[in-house]
Amino acid sequence: MKKLFFFAIIPIKYEKETAIMKNFEERLRANNLKTTHQRLAILTEIDRAGHIDIDSLFKLITKSFPTMALGTLYRNITDLKNRLILSEVKVPLKKNVYEVTKEDHIHLVCQSCGKIEDFEPIKSVVFDEIADKSGYAIKATQVSITGVCQGCR
Ligand SMILES: [Zn+2]
Ligand SMILES: [Zn+2]
Repeated sequence: MKKLFFFAIIPIKYEKETAIMKNFEERLRANNLKTTHQRLAILTEIDRAGHIDIDSLFKLITKSFPTMALGTLYRNITDLKNRLILSEVKVPLKKNVYEVTKEDHIHLVCQSCGKIEDFEPIKSVVFDEIADKSGYAIKATQVSITGVCQGCR
């Protein structure tokens, strides 16, 4: 019974990861970046982690690419960031983390366990009001809320 369950779950996971990889290949191509194994590995690891800092990412990546230097990882991250495939998230009192770019969303940061979660997309209404009142032409926004997560309370 246990074995059956195990075999049933593998192809689904594999299919999902293949679809994610395909999507990354398309994103790289659309942005005129060469699809390399390293870039795909970086994107896959960041996607799997959700949000990850450079040191933790470097540890994961060097498992598959033991010869990759930290500088090479930084260069790849910068290329992906410049093409907006990756976003850098500034977290109060913590090292910045990277995530695969998606719709602007609010980050919830647990000050107890350090977990970072995505919350709903940011309602642009608030920023329209801020732009109105301040006269700023808003180019980018990042909102993070620090608190204690449900599991830590
Ligand atoms: Zn927590
Ligand atoms: Zn996020």
